[in-house]
Amino acid sequence: MVQSGRGGFVRALFRRGSARLVPAALNLVVQRTSDAVVVVAPDGRFLHLNPAGYRLVRQLVPDAPAELIGRSAPEVLGPRLPEEPLASGEYDLTIGGRDRTLGLRVTRLLDRKRRPAGLVFVIRDVTSLTEASARLVEQESTFHRLRTELEHQAIHDPLTGLHNRRYLVERLADEVKRAQQGSNLSIIMLDIDNFKGVNESHGHAAGDDLLAAVARGLIDTVRSRDVLARYGGVEFVVVLPGAASRQACARAEQLRRRCAAVGVETADGPIARTVSAGVATFPGAGRTPSALLSSADQALHVAKSTGRDRVSLAEHTYVGGL
Ligand code: GH3
Ligand code: MG
Repeated sequence: MVQSGRGGFVRALFRRGSARLVPAALNLVVQRTSDAVVVVAPDGRFLHLNPAGYRLVRQLVPDAPAELIGRSAPEVLGPRLPEEPLASGEYDLTIGGRDRTLGLRVTRLLDRKRRPAGLVFVIRDVTSLTEASARLVEQESTFHRLRTELEHQAIHDPLTGLHNRRYLVERLADEVKRAQQGSNLSIIMLDIDNFKGVNESHGHAAGDDLLAAVARGLIDTVRSRDVLARYGGVEFVVVLPGAASRQACARAEQLRRRCAAVGVETADGPIARTVSAGVATFPGAGRTPSALLSSADQALHVAKSTGRDRVSLAEHTYVGGL
């Protein structure tokens, strides 16, 4: 017969005697579960342990007595037990240094008069979970570090530590947009003079050292809001937001002097090189990033062709102090 509704189902369960199976089924679960289930009386004596409970006690205390019921849990387990009496709740218990972590679920039993009747512990070895989560945290921080490193590499030049051409192009585009709203903008393109000779006479490694030293000289001289990048082999670009051509030429002159003063020691003695620079100012020398770069490049060529170690302003050339 088909029973309808929850009440009908429960009545049929009792009529067939199936409900009597429930405590036996629950007992079976407790016996078979891989969690340790341990019941302790208020005076601390073991009242019940399932097979996993016996296994756990024996792992913790290899010479524990064979029969534990009636034995004092604090005496058997000794210092492995938490010192504070436990309230109902969930705890993580680390034992054997940091070797093992046990997840402890504690339930306080009360009798009908609400007096303490004992404690039920359900204990699960969560060591592998804890290790897995520690590994995950470690992997996440490695991932974060790698991502930060890759992001850094994507916009920096490894030899000099300066920003690279890709970053410069992006930032210059931003600054040109700002200049189109009315603010001043100039750029300086610098190139080390006669650098091939350094490599040829002193070797590529000495060339690298000088290149890095010149880059440091540039870093020391630019303002924090300027954008400085290695634009090519021995070529650099500085973007000067807010700078009109006069200020940009003064800054280029300052950079020229600073770079000329940079030297590095080699086996053959100290080496140094001068730099030449071309300055281009928005909007006269160009209204777009590429037009500005091209004007600065032309000015740089003028500086080179008129003797090097000098600054040239797009359209105007001058030598030395302003
Ligand atoms: P100029 O005054 O006309 O600029 O002469 P230059 O010899 O400096 O000529 P140019 O700037 O055209 O050549 C620069 C040389 O720098 C070419 C290349 O061999 C060298 N170079 C480029 N990148 C590096 C680098 O990373 N390390 C070293 N050591 N040399 C480099
Ligand atoms: Mg050069």
